[in-house]
Parts: sequence; structure tokens; C-alpha cells
Amino acid sequence: RDSHRGRHVLVTGAARGIGRAIAEGFVRRGATVGLLDLRGEDVAAAQAELEGIGSGHVRGLVCDVSDYAALADALVRAEADAGAPFDTIVNNAGISPKHDGAAHRVWEMDPEEWRHVVDVNLTGHFNTIRVLTPAMREAGRGWIVNTASVAGKTYSPIVACHYAATKSAIIGFTKHLAAELGPWNIRVNALAPGRIATPMVAGVAAEINDAQVALTPMGRLGEPPEVADTALWLTSSEASFVTGQTIDVAGGYMMT
Ligand code: NAD
Repeated sequence: RDSHRGRHVLVTGAARGIGRAIAEGFVRRGATVGLLDLRGEDVAAAQAELEGIGSGHVRGLVCDVSDYAALADALVRAEADAGAPFDTIVNNAGISPKHDGAAHRVWEMDPEEWRHVVDVNLTGHFNTIRVLTPAMREAGRGWIVNTASVAGKTYSPIVACHYAATKSAIIGFTKHLAAELGPWNIRVNALAPGRIATPMVAGVAAEINDAQVALTPMGRLGEPPEVADTALWLTSSEASFVTGQTIDVAGGYMMT
């Protein structure tokens, strides 16, 4: 129950969906959790819901993960407030424009939109890791969970090429970081969710989600707490020799 007591955890994109469930899991297991998301009122609402749950503590951080200077400032202030550096990062913030199954192909892609998706989904991961790994190395311990997708492992007709490219990049980035940071006892892994019932997919036409369920051997969408449990395991002592891995949480969807 208190497997993460004493940890200082950053969860990005924590106001809703998978990030919100991951943050809740850490709070229930006794951690101090920084809930980072874009909009102040969403962060305040998530913070109010999670305060008083379990034995952990929560602190809201309003920031865009793609803005390095603002992020570094927010994280330094959060560490000063908590009196401890972050030792655990869950990079979850991500966006998927054009997630509607229509044919948004590369020859139609707006270069600005491409850049924005790379900035949030890939550079956003780099930014938190760049800010927080110096202290992790000094401490000689750390836990990092990144967020890829099954769409980063294999072709998925319902996402656009920018999303697929960033999620594939996260898988390679995760392996590379595991090798760089392993000597300092910092483990780096990634999640590859399949279709999970969150606001990101709620906006999509029902027939698209039905088609995804039809491709899922377990015959249903996943629930955010099922992804959260995998993040909790990866950052626990039970996964003490697991690093550089990308774990599908997908009910058997497109096993690759
Ligand atoms: P969601 O859209 O429901 O929630 C994402 C959260 O991230 C939102 O609260 C949003 O405000 C925040 N966010 C977006 N851009 C941000 C930024 N620049 N800075 C800070 N916060 C930002 O999404 P979700 O379905 O919970 O997905 C979470 C992660 O899981 C994403 O990386 C997504 O790509 C990945 N994923 C989701 C699914 C799925 O089926 N839901 C499948 C595979 C992978």
C-alpha cells in the first residue's frame, strides 16, 4: 500500500485521463506528487480531488512541457516547496491531433502542427529528463516512465504520421536513456498503451473505437487505472532489474 512512500514524483499531463490515474496511484501509495498540466483550473480540480486520498501529498504545477525555461522554473520551485528533488518522472503529457480515423496523410500535414506534436510528445519528455536527471545522478537513484503507444510499434490507420513518429521515437529514446543512466541506478522504461478510455479517445466517433475494440483480443477498451498499475510496478522495487523496456498495456492489441 505504501510502496512509494517518501518518493517525490512528477506526473505530466496529470489533470485527466491516464495521467490523472497514475497520479492517483502514486498518492495512494504514499508519494508526494507534482501534478503538472497546461490549464490552471484543470490542475486545481485534479489537486482538490486527490488531496486527502491515501497518505501522499499533491502539488499542482501549471506548465507546458514543451517550454523548457518555464518547466525548469516550475520544477525548481516545486522541489524547493517539497524540500526534496524529484526522484521519479512519469512523462505522460501527449497530444494526438487528427485522431479521427480520417485520411490525414503526410502530403496534407501542416508543418506547424508537425512541429507542435514533436515539441509536446518528444521534446516534452526530453525537457523533464534534462532538468531532473542531474540530481538523480547525484542521488544515485531514479525512476523514469515514458509514454509511447502501440502506434509507435506498428502502423495504425487511426493516427497521423506525426503522432506515430513521436511514439516510435520514445521507444528508442527510452532504450538510449536506460543505457546512459543505468550506471547511476536510474531505470528508464516506457508504456505502450492500446486503446484506453480517456477524454483523448472520447472525442472520437464511436465506430472508430468499436473498430479498435474488434482488433483487441480482450474485446474492450482499457481503463486508465490499468495503465497506472503498470507505471507503479515499473517504478517499484518489484521491477528492480527492468530497464529500457516498452511495455504494452493493450489487451493484446496488435502484439508486436
Ligand atoms: P488526454 O488528452 O485525455 O490527457 C492528456 C493530458 O495532457 C491533458 O490533461 C492535457 O491538458 C495534458 N497536456 C497536453 N499537452 C500538454 C503540454 N504541452 N504540457 C502539459 N500538459 C499537457 O490523453 P490520454 O488519453 O490520457 O493520454 C495520455 C498519454 O497516453 C498521451 O501521451 C497519449 O499519447 C498516450 N496514449 C493514449 C492512448 C489512449 O488510447 N488514450 C493510447 C496510447 C497512448
